[in-house]
Amino acid sequence: MELLPTTTSRCPHAPAEVAAPSGARCEECDSTFNLRLCADCGHVGCCESQAGHARAHALGAGHPVILQMPAPNGFWWCYAENRYL
Ligand SMILES: [Zn+2]
Ligand SMILES: [Zn+2]
Ligand SMILES: [Zn+2]
Repeated sequence: MELLPTTTSRCPHAPAEVAAPSGARCEECDSTFNLRLCADCGHVGCCESQAGHARAHALGAGHPVILQMPAPNGFWWCYAENRYL
C-alpha cells in the first residue's frame, strides 16, 4: 500500500505537492517581508498585517492552503477550516 504524501495528510485541502513560489515578493504590491505562499499554484502574497494579498488570493482563487515563507519551514494555514495545519 502506498503511503500518503505528507502534505495531503495535513488537511484535505492541501495539494499532494506544494507549488514552487513565483518569486520572493508579493505579486500584487511588491512587499518582500512576511510573505505567504499558495500551496496550490505558487502565488506569493503579503500577510494580513499588510495589504492581505495572500488571503485575497486564497479566497478569490479558491486555493485555501497557504504556507509561511520561506516554505515549508514555517506555519501552514487553511482558510477553508481557519486553522493551522
Ligand atoms: Zn483544510
Ligand atoms: Zn501585497
Ligand atoms: Zn493559488
